[in-house]
Amino acid sequence: MAVEQTFAIIKPDAVGAGNAGNIIQMIEDNGFNIVCMKKTRLTTAQAQGFYHVHSERPFFGELVEFMTSGPCVVLMLEAEGAISKWRDLMGPTDATKAGPDTVRGRYGTDIGRNASHGSDAPETAAFETQYFFNCFERL
Ligand code: UDP
Ligand code: MG
Repeated sequence: MAVEQTFAIIKPDAVGAGNAGNIIQMIEDNGFNIVCMKKTRLTTAQAQGFYHVHSERPFFGELVEFMTSGPCVVLMLEAEGAISKWRDLMGPTDATKAGPDTVRGRYGTDIGRNASHGSDAPETAAFETQYFFNCFERL
């Protein structure tokens, strides 16, 4: 399997609850290299742009409100098969259905407040990474 990069967010629910460190530990324990990382707070426009593919969905307004409700931690991760590997470690979107060894199972609450984001394909990983990190921030 090829080494690839993915983009991750530790969402405002998890950061607000003081779980960012625990999630970063899970990321490192599972063999990801953290290429770059920062703490930031999204504006409404930034959150709308990031989630533009969901703009017609009924939960869009709620999602943007949640993602701007407090700071989050954004990361670029690298590993063999990083995209599916990170989504497996996060667990399913609905945190109530996520296993106890997953990020969402441990630190999420429900289908909206689910502690983390992960890219779903190489194209979205590239778009989402450049949305937050410029080339000089990539270590
Ligand atoms: N979401 C929501 N309600 C839903 C589905 C999704 O609030 O019914 C939120 C949730 O925070 C999710 C995000 O919208 O992580 C993006 O949805 P997507 O289907 O892309 O799930 P993901 O890729 O994050 O697992
Ligand atoms: Mg998604």
